[in-house]
Amino acid sequence: MCTRVSDNERRSFDACPTISVSLVVPVYNEAETVGPFLDRVERMVDGESSVRLEVVFVNDGSSDATLERLLEHQQQDTRVRVVDLSRNFGKEAALTAGMRIAKGQVVVPIDVDLQAPPELIFEMIEQWRQGYDVVLARRVGRDTDSRAKRISATWFYRIYNRIAEPMIPENVSDFRLMDRTVVEALNELPESRRFMKGLFAWVGFRTTCVDYACPERAAGSSKFNGRRLWNFALEGLTGFSTLPLRIWTYLGTLMVLASFLYASFIVLRVLIFGIDTPGYVPLLVAITFLGGLQLMGIGIIGEYLGRTYLEAKRRPVFLVRHIYEPQE
Ligand code: UDP
Ligand code: MG
Repeated sequence: MCTRVSDNERRSFDACPTISVSLVVPVYNEAETVGPFLDRVERMVDGESSVRLEVVFVNDGSSDATLERLLEHQQQDTRVRVVDLSRNFGKEAALTAGMRIAKGQVVVPIDVDLQAPPELIFEMIEQWRQGYDVVLARRVGRDTDSRAKRISATWFYRIYNRIAEPMIPENVSDFRLMDRTVVEALNELPESRRFMKGLFAWVGFRTTCVDYACPERAAGSSKFNGRRLWNFALEGLTGFSTLPLRIWTYLGTLMVLASFLYASFIVLRVLIFGIDTPGYVPLLVAITFLGGLQLMGIGIIGEYLGRTYLEAKRRPVFLVRHIYEPQE
């Protein structure tokens, strides 16, 4: 996962003493979390002359007072920019929107719930100065997650990394620092079904990581329930692997071979020994088994066909309703 960089790729302090950092923060019904988040971020950069900050909030169709809260904060703080999407497009689309609009030399997607400590960006910037283009934040321990979420995450990574290309690192969320070149590359990817973890891995670039412990959510509750997580996992797997599509050819071939051998065996047995077998038994088994297999195959083809259909429409990933820029 980590790549080496040579000395002349360092971004020295003398060459760029202040760097502009964009935090990209998707928010969905987070009225009670934006305040604590901004307080902490503002305190963090207070008196830091080496960092010029902008905070791009992407309001992902919240139905509570999130937008009002954000605009109130924008009145106080001109570093706050607010993108208001026209409805709830999901976190991946919200991140995409924020990254297209962010202006910083480095861009850091971060959750608003303070489960990822914003202070870590200083450590990330250190690594960026060493010449890395991507600095991942790796969670050590997932104690704050439920057992079910931990187990399902482990299995997801195991299956994903076995069948999909390229591998995605475990215990790494969207919280990461990316150089402008990386952001431009991501912005250029045309697809509209965006599994960000997969896309982040796909673009590559010189990568390293820093560790952090993940605390409880600051306020509010998780927006990802079982159904959403399941769809998220399916999205990732079908988006970056064609194995589910291809495997049926092999299984089908095996099945045909097996049934041919079985049929030959029965015919030979009747011819040689004259033993009579009740006709309905193998028939029934074969019909139900093959019927089931075909249905599964059709289901998988449907999954991909659906994706092709959606992708063929070339719909934009998100629609911006309005961009509120701070009043200078
Ligand atoms: N989020 C979003 N759109 C959605 C769901 C979530 O923008 O449809 C945001 C949410 O406001 C938060 C981040 O994505 O800033 C991560 O969500 P959450 O903390 O609920 O996820 P978890 O940490 O439980 O995986
Ligand atoms: Mg969270």
